Amino acid sequence: MVDRSFWKCAGCSTSFVLRVSWAYNVDHLFRFNCPSCKSELDGQLVINFRTTDGTLLPPERWDTFLRIEGAQKLTESQVVFNEQTAWITIFSDLPIDAAHHVQRGKDVPLYGPTMFTMACLDKKVFEYGKRTEHIYSLPENDIKVLKSAFNAFKRKDLENAKSLLDKVSFSVPKKSHHVASICGITYSSILIPFVGPFVHSGIYLEFIDKMLSLDKMNTFVIPKQLIDSGRFESILNLHFELLGSLIDNKLILSIALFIDMCPEAVRESLVITANYPELVLRIYEQLCEANHTFVKIFVGLMNIVNRGGIHRFNRTNIKDFGTFFERATISTSLDLVTEHPGIGEYFNTNLDRKIRNAIAHRSVQFTPNGQTLNSTFSGEKYSIDYPTFLMKLLGLSQSILFFTAVLTDMNRIVTDIASNGG
Ligand SMILES: [Zn+2]
Repeated sequence: MVDRSFWKCAGCSTSFVLRVSWAYNVDHLFRFNCPSCKSELDGQLVINFRTTDGTLLPPERWDTFLRIEGAQKLTESQVVFNEQTAWITIFSDLPIDAAHHVQRGKDVPLYGPTMFTMACLDKKVFEYGKRTEHIYSLPENDIKVLKSAFNAFKRKDLENAKSLLDKVSFSVPKKSHHVASICGITYSSILIPFVGPFVHSGIYLEFIDKMLSLDKMNTFVIPKQLIDSGRFESILNLHFELLGSLIDNKLILSIALFIDMCPEAVRESLVITANYPELVLRIYEQLCEANHTFVKIFVGLMNIVNRGGIHRFNRTNIKDFGTFFERATISTSLDLVTEHPGIGEYFNTNLDRKIRNAIAHRSVQFTPNGQTLNSTFSGEKYSIDYPTFLMKLLGLSQSILFFTAVLTDMNRIVTDIASNGG
């Protein structure tokens, strides 16, 4: 549906028509620039689908509430319509505008704005539609139950964790340490159909196969290292925090997915209208940290498969995996993982050290139109456009979902073996 309203910029008094399309979400945040003075205007559209007792209202009674910081609301009669009148379209259910951010003097009545944007996807529109539909039909209540189950597991309230899991998963936790594994796998299976699969999962499984053919016990060297060093729990906590953030920020992921499927020619004309740059930076930073663990595990796997031992690095100055795991910087790990061309390129592209360092040192700024990130870190200037940044964020989300399932299951297997006396 489209909410059409009339506004005047508080800075330059230019009036404009604003169309906000919306679909399934209650709360829509967006950002755009005044068509005349270009100052940033932040908007929020809230839709009331239900009465206070939770009953779903019929569509004609859905209430919309639109607020724009830095602009005044006008009535239709207060707007002068001529060739210079600016029409601004925001797709709040997919906060993207393809080329027609501001149209002067005309409304485009043929398609709704979302349909217009979807048309950019060409043949991929059905795949995209399927994926986004998946996220909108996510059982949010199930996710809350999963979070509670994991929290109960952390509090060592195992009976509670088991009974909560029983409501959302077909897997029955036979033992208490199975809870985290079931939470991880269920979470991943809920989100992977939306963000897409980790393209190198096959390579990971090949590594495991090769290790099994070399020496069965090798397979458990790495997870044992994580458990023995006491790092396992903090890694899992970070993962579960991240999975929650990914679900809360499904709109950002929708944009990334859209860009991923867009033809190259359309990509350049995209304007992203979402208003959560700060949040996006924080999630990217967390994704980098969580993926760093994955990169280090790959380095260990390559040591075993390529040189026959976890401590055998392809660099002479690193002597043992434990110390490497505890102390390696992201740069060292990324340099080492380039030993495998495919995996190396994947992580070096998506885990962008320059952006990650600049975010960690709080030296990244969005340009006023929100379409570019600029940073200066250690005197070095770096710019990246927002769509490219979101693609990296999507890449890291795909690997982390795969990794969460792998990691929680590694923990289960190792603990199973230990509790069965090896
Ligand atoms: Zn203005």
